[in-house]
Amino acid sequence: MSRGDMAKPLLGHGSTEGDPSVTPAYGRTIGVLGSGDFARSLAIRLVCSGFKVVVGSRNPKRKASLFPSAAEVTFQAEAVKKTDVIFVAVFREHYSTLCDLADVLAGKILVDVSNNTEINHHKESNAEYLASLFPACTVVKGFNVVSAWTLQSGARDGNKQVLICSNNQEAKRTVAEIAQVMGFTPVDMGCMSSACEIENIPLRLLPAWKIPIFLALGLFLCFFTYNLIRQVIHPFIREQKNKLYKIPIEVVNTTLPCVSYVMLSLVYLPGVLAACSQLYYGTKYRRFPDWLDQWLQHRKQIGLLSFFCAALHAVYSLCLPMRRSHRYLLIETAVKQAVEKKMNIWVEEEVWRMEIYISVGIIALGLLSLLAITSLPSIANSLNWREFSFIQSSLGFIALVVSTLHTLTYGWSRAFDENQYKFYLPPTYTLTLLVPCTVIIAKVIFSLPCIRHRLLRIRRGWEKGRYVKFVLPSATGEYSSGETSSNV
Ligand code: NAP
Repeated sequence: MSRGDMAKPLLGHGSTEGDPSVTPAYGRTIGVLGSGDFARSLAIRLVCSGFKVVVGSRNPKRKASLFPSAAEVTFQAEAVKKTDVIFVAVFREHYSTLCDLADVLAGKILVDVSNNTEINHHKESNAEYLASLFPACTVVKGFNVVSAWTLQSGARDGNKQVLICSNNQEAKRTVAEIAQVMGFTPVDMGCMSSACEIENIPLRLLPAWKIPIFLALGLFLCFFTYNLIRQVIHPFIREQKNKLYKIPIEVVNTTLPCVSYVMLSLVYLPGVLAACSQLYYGTKYRRFPDWLDQWLQHRKQIGLLSFFCAALHAVYSLCLPMRRSHRYLLIETAVKQAVEKKMNIWVEEEVWRMEIYISVGIIALGLLSLLAITSLPSIANSLNWREFSFIQSSLGFIALVVSTLHTLTYGWSRAFDENQYKFYLPPTYTLTLLVPCTVIIAKVIFSLPCIRHRLLRIRRGWEKGRYVKFVLPSATGEYSSGETSSNV
């Protein structure tokens, strides 16, 4: 962004037109203490949003050139005098060096944007510490969850939320208005006691992904060991054949689809368990056990990891013919056939199996890609609830069925061939079918009219043991109402 551009408001008055709560913030003077990365990005964003900005630095002459020309860069005390709202873009360790400004800061709003380097690093949050140093000021915690980069690039991409908390409602509203004019979505997190939680948020490493990642790794380890025993250890022990070369690609490539397929079924299994619980207790108002709640909340991540494994499986499969081992084996087979004078090696059944197996696999991957794309917030937000639930629920279930067909055509009749049982261990694909088939059968049972009807009524508030009026859509789509008593 050129300095000329930086002076132009991007989100002008027009963007908040019609919203009376936002108008007063536009055009007011905002102070920024500090001249580092965050202060600079903040100043640029504020200028672009139509605010007057005054930056307070210990060395304004040296730092002025780093800021847009529309921003005034001056000494800290001078800057503070010119505004009522001051962003403190200084590290916590340096707060005490601002104490000389206590008199000029009195009665003003200080916005604490600071983060820590460790979760719960200090006893009290940075914002509470700042408030204790400046008791005559009103401190608002906010903007710390936004990076300097996001501030500069604008709130168009990525996370638009700015979490705000303070003990003073008026000050919180002022900062929320500023955030809104800057194009962010202010989220009221309550009083100052929430500051610690807000400060911990940027330090958390993929909190929603921990369980799904451990689940994927656990499944990978189990299936990898199983395949290793069948494909490498068994031929070594039984026939003294060295098949170690299979480990990096073949064993991994037979493990990945197992993980992907089982993970996909685990996206839909908690829904089945939840439906069973609702049918059993005859109510939707009974809380699910914590583990089921957690599981339901992690479905998106589990689904995305399933897609990730499926995509890796596709790439690995495409690379199979590139391997030198594959070429050697191909030549070896050709030579054997020549020696045995075999002319026709075409097996019609095998050809069809492979064609169908690959085609169904590609369709399954396509459906999984669609599910993954529509689970991204920017895409999901552009869909209405019906579209989102159709893709994630109906198409997702179809993806599971298609993946099952892919697995079955891959396995074909191997489950009935005793040579396929290594150390009495059945082919891996038979194990992977267990959970997905359970889910598919359960879903089919739930779609039977008598069960579907009861489940629908429960999800619309009907409860077993209660006498309530209910209204349900009929087969023609019209609504019919009636009275029902318990155990119907
Ligand atoms: P920085 O680049 O190191 O800037 C810190 C600024 O503090 C310095 O430029 C300095 O400006 C000022 N300062 C005032 N008194 C100071 C003192 N006694 N010693 C040293 N510096 C002093 O840091 P930053 O990345 O901008 O971060 C500033 C605050 O924003 C931190 O609390 C950080 O946690 C928070 N934050 C940063 C980001 C980010 O993406 N960078 C994101 C969220 C939150 P003068 O020399 O002009 O006085």
